[in-house]
Amino acid sequence: GVVIEGLRKSYGPIEVLKGIDLEVKPGQVVCLIGPSGSGKSTLLRCVNLLEQPNGGAIDVGGFDVTDPDVDVDKMRRHVGMVFQQFNLFPHLTVLENCTVAQLKVLKRSKAEADQVAQRNLEKVGLGKFASRYPAQLSGGQQQRVAIARALSMDPSLMLFDEPTSALDPETVGEVLSIMRNLARDGMTMLVVTHEMAFARDVADRVVFMDGGVVVEEGTSEEVIGNPQQPRTQDFLKRVL
Ligand code: ATP
Ligand code: MG
Repeated sequence: GVVIEGLRKSYGPIEVLKGIDLEVKPGQVVCLIGPSGSGKSTLLRCVNLLEQPNGGAIDVGGFDVTDPDVDVDKMRRHVGMVFQQFNLFPHLTVLENCTVAQLKVLKRSKAEADQVAQRNLEKVGLGKFASRYPAQLSGGQQQRVAIARALSMDPSLMLFDEPTSALDPETVGEVLSIMRNLARDGMTMLVVTHEMAFARDVADRVVFMDGGVVVEEGTSEEVIGNPQQPRTQDFLKRVL
């Protein structure tokens, strides 16, 4: 799981995260919602140290991420991240996209890496696409490869930053359905999403952020079904 306490992040004089407390218990799915610019991506990027926090503490599965002596590479192995843009390597096949980090970072043998990659490609419904190149796949299929690639590192936590926002409407469902399966299988997930139906159905907790603070937090029935804060109510009126 993840425990975030008092997380602060500034860019120059502008404080983007103003003391965030947030927890994802092992096996839970937490959906992070909020308007553009509220700091959702920055928060996710702090969790795997793509951004260096300015204050507070982040514990990822027992690693104190904010400890200056933390082994960043070791920590990142446990955290899978899926972005809006899939960032697949265009010159590598689907299978190779899913093995390159296993070989380089985890030092797995090629045989083992191939086997793990194939298993995860099957999990996302792309077992037959291993030898294709990313350009030969739809956006939804490419995003499913990105999920398989992240899973191939055996993460204890998966971070998703608007994984369906760049997709054609007809392929959004296939990616959400993979994420539902992952959640059902007990993966710990922190998901930034505008898909309110997904958040309502899948999230154990929903966190609404605005202006760098957590405005409201609770179960999906509470936050999406019966929001208490005016800012949450306004936001949901606009997106639902
Ligand atoms: P969106 O829903 O549009 O993705 P978000 O909630 O993910 O928004 P962030 O991307 O975290 O928001 O950005 C929060 C604020 O921090 C914004 O005002 C943004 O302009 C600012 N910001 C983000 N990254 C940087 C950066 N590298 N340098 C300066 N400012 C930044
Ligand atoms: Mg963002």
